[in-house]
Amino acid sequence: MDIEKIRKQKREYYYRNLEKQKKYAKIYRKKNKEKRREYDKKWIEKNKEKHLKYHRKYKKLYFQKNKARLEARKIKFPKGLKCYICSKRLAKEKHHPDYFKPLEIIPLCKKCHLKIHNNNNSLFLTSIGIKLGIFKDIK
Ligand SMILES: [Zn+2]
Ligand SMILES: [Zn+2]
Repeated sequence: MDIEKIRKQKREYYYRNLEKQKKYAKIYRKKNKEKRREYDKKWIEKNKEKHLKYHRKYKKLYFQKNKARLEARKIKFPKGLKCYICSKRLAKEKHHPDYFKPLEIIPLCKKCHLKIHNNNNSLFLTSIGIKLGIFKDIK
């Protein structure tokens, strides 16, 4: 057998194997998915109360979030209002520190708004934002 032939065989073997591996990976993923689903189902069954509670809470908050957003549409920012955090860019977004107070909003630029939600420090803003009276002239 010459070297070329061996090389070719090796290459073919490799590709055949690759196909096989791909196939196995697919089956494995499918099986895993089913397992995961089964596991989730069992968890929900076991923790029915917990799950329901969480679901209700989440639903309520979600509903309130949408409501707050709709309500806040009535509020128009004064022209040229700057972002409350960076005071550089224009405030184009309305941040709700508390969705249960739809009219209490903090004017932010997109960048700072994203930052706040990522850092989850809206509590910080709740405590100082509105109480400083910066929103007096907004309504
Ligand atoms: Zn900003
Ligand atoms: Zn926000």
